[in-house]
Amino acid sequence: MRAVDDLIAEGVSGRRVLLRADLNVPLDKSTGEITDDGRIRASLPTLQALRDAGARVIVAAHLGRPKGAPDPQFSLAPVAARLGELLGTSVPLAGDVAGEDARAKSEALGDGDVLMLENVRFEAAETSKDDAARGELADRLAALADVYVDDAFGAVHRKHASVYDVALRLPHAAGRLVARELEVLTRLTTDPERPYVVVLGGSKVSDKLAVIEELLPKVDRLLIGGGMCFTFLAAQGHGVGSSLLEADQVDTCRRLLAEADGRIVLPVDIVCADRFAADAETSLTPADAIPDDLMGLDVGPLTVDLFTAELVDARTVFWNGPMGVFELAPFQAGTRGVAEAVGAVDGLSVVGGGDSAAAVRQLGLDEESYGHISTGGGASLEYLEGRELPGLAVLAD
Ligand code: ADP
Ligand code: MG
Repeated sequence: MRAVDDLIAEGVSGRRVLLRADLNVPLDKSTGEITDDGRIRASLPTLQALRDAGARVIVAAHLGRPKGAPDPQFSLAPVAARLGELLGTSVPLAGDVAGEDARAKSEALGDGDVLMLENVRFEAAETSKDDAARGELADRLAALADVYVDDAFGAVHRKHASVYDVALRLPHAAGRLVARELEVLTRLTTDPERPYVVVLGGSKVSDKLAVIEELLPKVDRLLIGGGMCFTFLAAQGHGVGSSLLEADQVDTCRRLLAEADGRIVLPVDIVCADRFAADAETSLTPADAIPDDLMGLDVGPLTVDLFTAELVDARTVFWNGPMGVFELAPFQAGTRGVAEAVGAVDGLSVVGGGDSAAAVRQLGLDEESYGHISTGGGASLEYLEGRELPGLAVLAD
């Protein structure tokens, strides 16, 4: 796999570089403002290195899930503005993805300039299953540039036009972020230093069962919190009230608990609420005695102590998924406590997942205390599942 730094060494001055970046940041629903610019900041090293080398950079990215057509709510305008602030230059936004305006603006670029294309998902072909449809869009994208650099780690598990097909059409290289993510994931999958502890949370157990199956034989301990713990608690025969429960996964969770032979560690206490709201009535209950009329929205303090004890001697940690509904103040403490314990680990600690990374920043935790904060939750999980990621495979040859 060629790296962007190889390209730079060969000379990119005056060349037009199509840079696929992951700038899919969360926006405030009412104001439309960016609530966490972590992904934009993470894209800067590759972008700045290309500019410094005199490349003419054309940034392609997606935001949210527009329905394959232009939708002002999902415009990359706020992202282009923020990127411009961070780079200290103006970043014009094309009015389309790979149409007339993108072509005209890309031709007007000078050395070191940056242009942002509109949200690639404004084109239905971007995510199409039809190779020909994606190919047509990829042709238009490729025509804008001389070379393609993929730094969108968060999208490499997608066979999308701007991730996969365009790399078939242009000389290509991996950006620094993609290279760094791969280096860390390789360390997690090849002979990790032990004890190796994985912490999983988040909302949907069905999203994460495949990675649990894959990791279980490899880890020393698997700590499970967040919304997904309730399906495991149900598998142990406990009532979970109105907490998140995926009834069709209970049998699988029961089998995994049996296979784990004590290596899966579940919460012992739960912060419950009478409804899903910041001003809900809360109470702390044992994990095996959640009242029928309550829902569990965070792990309790005894669980934080238990998980901290399980993490204290770890040498390798991968954490994905918040321990509770950290977006609401009364349900933050579990995520905060476990995040602190992960950060305190003496060894390699990796945070993977958009919401987990956002939680680290939103709760004011020290980003520097982690070995690596991955910007791609889905992509890192699929990598750890041992699946081939189309966006990486295509860069390899
Ligand atoms: P990541 O993006 O880090 O991979 P996920 O997307 O899997 O994480 O899950 C994040 C979401 O899980 C958060 O929005 C959080 O509110 C939610 N969550 C965590 N614990 C619970 C819970 N007990 N009940 C409902 N939702 C939960
Ligand atoms: Mg998420």
